[in-house]
Amino acid sequence: MSFQPSPVKLADTGKRPLLTDNFSRKLTYLRLSITDRCNLRCRYCMPQSSFSWMPSENILRFEEIYEICRAFCSLGMKKIRFTGGEPLVRRGLPDLIRKISALSGLDEVCLTTNGTLLGDYARELKDAGITHINISLDTLDRDTYASITGADMFEQVWASIMKVIELGFPKIKINAVVIKGVTDAGIYDLAKLALKYPIDVRFIEFMPVGDHIPWSPDSMIPCDTIREMLEQRIGKLTAVEHHAGAGPAMLYRHEKAPGLIGFISPLSHHFCGTCNRLRVTADGKLRLCLFSDNEIDIKTPLRQGVKGRELEDFFVKAASMKPEGYHALGKKQVSCAKRMSSIGG
Ligand code: SAM
Ligand code: SF4
Repeated sequence: MSFQPSPVKLADTGKRPLLTDNFSRKLTYLRLSITDRCNLRCRYCMPQSSFSWMPSENILRFEEIYEICRAFCSLGMKKIRFTGGEPLVRRGLPDLIRKISALSGLDEVCLTTNGTLLGDYARELKDAGITHINISLDTLDRDTYASITGADMFEQVWASIMKVIELGFPKIKINAVVIKGVTDAGIYDLAKLALKYPIDVRFIEFMPVGDHIPWSPDSMIPCDTIREMLEQRIGKLTAVEHHAGAGPAMLYRHEKAPGLIGFISPLSHHFCGTCNRLRVTADGKLRLCLFSDNEIDIKTPLRQGVKGRELEDFFVKAASMKPEGYHALGKKQVSCAKRMSSIGG
């Protein structure tokens, strides 16, 4: 989608109104993919044979990412998440996080990681200002882990989980993609982590994202079914009242469990009506909806010198173009052509 900065200037009143789209949704959550590269090859995201990296000059530089975050924070962003690819393969990330955490108005500075390198960086990341950590882990079985990710690194991920618990991050979540015949047998052991440790375990429906992954309707298990399967084995789960910070996850509590169990169901129950997200891809495109491949180029204007108030105006105009939801895109079901690793999930 080609887009020029808006000629409309908002009144210069100091504090600006919250970024709001044409459907009165307040956009307070920014997800930034800071690299498309990764040290794993999860078969549902980045299968071994099917990709090449973006040229490094196309990837946003740290000073560009900072300017994007600064502009969005001026527009009332409350939560920023760093994701990828694998964000921890990009050198210098803790320094960037330290600068961004210092921006005013942010309540949450979050990281989504595969956990393989997290043990080495956890303390530095906490000191830099990360408040919320999501670790992607689809199984507790070492062999299944290696077959899904292409790497025998389960032990490293487990050590990272223990490390972040020990360091006491305010919120730790494990995200698991459920794929029929691949990871469904392991959902019980994963769920039991929330019964033992102060971490939330969330199950995600396998999504058809990217044109290269082995998705079929049969490979996806709807979240309602996953919940019923769990209840039969581990006992009753009681719905937790939905609060703003929970995002798209439906959360449940098991009696006496320190953590919650959640379900993210983009296919079986869409959550477009309450979507508060914007995404920036690794190559500097503003993505208004995960499932819409219409993107707005931010990198070119940034490299042409657009910054400060002008960049904020650009984002105000761009936000007004956020679609009502994927159903409004004329799609029968969620899907997108771009890879998850450049969008960031
Ligand atoms: N590398 C990091 C990680 O794995 O956490 C961050 C990037 S990864 C693209 C972000 C999230 O997207 C992960 O939790 C991953 O499981 C999820 N994901 C990737 N492909 C998916 C798919 N086809 N369906 C559902 N979730 C997917
Ligand atoms: Fe890498 Fe994350 Fe994609 Fe797995 S899901 S290949 S860890 S970016």
